[in-house]
Amino acid sequence: MNAQTRIPVAVLGATGMVGQRFIELLQAHPWFELVGLGASERSGGRSYSEVSRWRLPGSEMPRSAASLPVASCKPEAFHGVKIVFSALPGEVAGEIEEDFARAGIAVFSNAKNHRMAADVPLLIPEVNADHAAAIIQQRRLRNWSGSIVTNANCSATPLVMALKPLQEAFGVRKVMVTTLQAISGAGYPGLSSYDILDNAIPYIGGEEEKVQSETLKMLGRWDEGPGFTDAPMLVSAQCNRVATREGHLECASIELERDANPEDVIAVWENYQPEVQRLNLPSAPERALLYRREPDRPQTLRDRNTGRGMTVSLGRLRRCPILSYKFALLGHNTIRGAAGGSILNAELCISKGLI
Ligand code: NAP
Repeated sequence: MNAQTRIPVAVLGATGMVGQRFIELLQAHPWFELVGLGASERSGGRSYSEVSRWRLPGSEMPRSAASLPVASCKPEAFHGVKIVFSALPGEVAGEIEEDFARAGIAVFSNAKNHRMAADVPLLIPEVNADHAAAIIQQRRLRNWSGSIVTNANCSATPLVMALKPLQEAFGVRKVMVTTLQAISGAGYPGLSSYDILDNAIPYIGGEEEKVQSETLKMLGRWDEGPGFTDAPMLVSAQCNRVATREGHLECASIELERDANPEDVIAVWENYQPEVQRLNLPSAPERALLYRREPDRPQTLRDRNTGRGMTVSLGRLRRCPILSYKFALLGHNTIRGAAGGSILNAELCISKGLI
C-alpha cells in the first residue's frame, strides 16, 4: 500500500488517554490516514487543539491532528471514513460502535462492551489470528456491512501473550495472576493524586472478571457455525492499582499439563514465532515476547517501551511450590494493551482480506 492509497480512518474518544495514543501511533502510518476525530458533545465542533491537552510524555500534539475538527460520535459526521478506532468509555461505546458498524465502517474497539459477544473477535494477532474470521459470520448474522473487532483488557493482553506458547508446547491447566497496574489504565483524570500517591489499591472494578473471562476466550477456539469455545483452563486474577504511570506488571503462577524443565519453558518463549510474524504488519514488533535473564527484570519503568511498547517482557521464571512455575510479565497498557493492539488488529484484518 502506498501513500496515495492510504485508508481514511478516525479515532473516537480522541481526547482521552487511549485516544491520544491512537493519534500518536497513526502519525505517518504507512496504511492509514487519520482524517477524523470524535469525542463527547462537550468537545464537538471545535478544533482538537482547542478541546484537548496533550498528555503523552515525550511528544507534542501532532500538528496534523491539532487542526482537525472534533465531531460528535455519529457515523454521518465521518463521511468517507472506512475504519474507526474506538477509545470510548464503556458507558457509551456499545451503541455508538454498533451504529458505525451498521453504517458500513470497520470498528476496532478498546471498550469492554462487545468483547465477550458470541460473534465478536477478541483479537491479538500473535495469539488467535484465526478468530478474526468471526467477523464474516458477524456481518451475516447482524446484517451489517461494517464490523466490530475488539482488543482485550490491558492486563489480559500481555498475560495471554505469555501463556499462548506455553499452552501450545505443554498445555496450561491453571493460572493465578496478581497485577500491579499503572494509573493511566484508569483514563484521564483517573484517580485523584491524593488517592494514589504513596499508595496501592487492591481493587479495580470489574477488572478481575475481565482478565479471567477474556483470557479463556482468546486462548479458546473459533469454529465457523458454533462460534467460540473457551480454553479448558482455570484462571484466577487479583488486580491492584499502583502509583506507576504506564505499564502493567503481573506476577503469574501456572500449572502445566506436561512438566518441562525451566530452560525448555524459556526456550519456548524465546523461540516464539507466531505465523502472523511472516505478514510483516507495520505495527508488529520484531519480537512479540522478550525473556530477560536479569534477576530483577522486567521492571515497569525500564522495560515498558520494549519493541515500541508492543513487546511483552518476561522474566524471573522459577519453580512454584504450589503450581508448576511462577514468573513476571510486563505489557504497555496504552500501547500493546490498547491503541497499538487495535491498530495491529486492523492491519491483520486488512492483510487477511477481511475488510
Ligand atoms: P479516558 O481518558 O477517560 O477518555 C475517554 C474519551 O471518551 C474522551 O475522549 C472523552 O471525550 C470521550 N467520551 C466521554 N464520554 C463520551 C460520550 N458520551 N460520547 C462520546 N465520547 C465520549 O479513557 P481511556 O483510558 O482513554 O479509555 C478509553 C477506553 O479504552 C475505555 O473503554 C477503556 O476501558 C479502554 N481501555 C483503556 C486502557 C488504558 O490503559 N487506559 C487500556 C485498554 C482499554 P471528552 O474529552 O469530550 O469527554
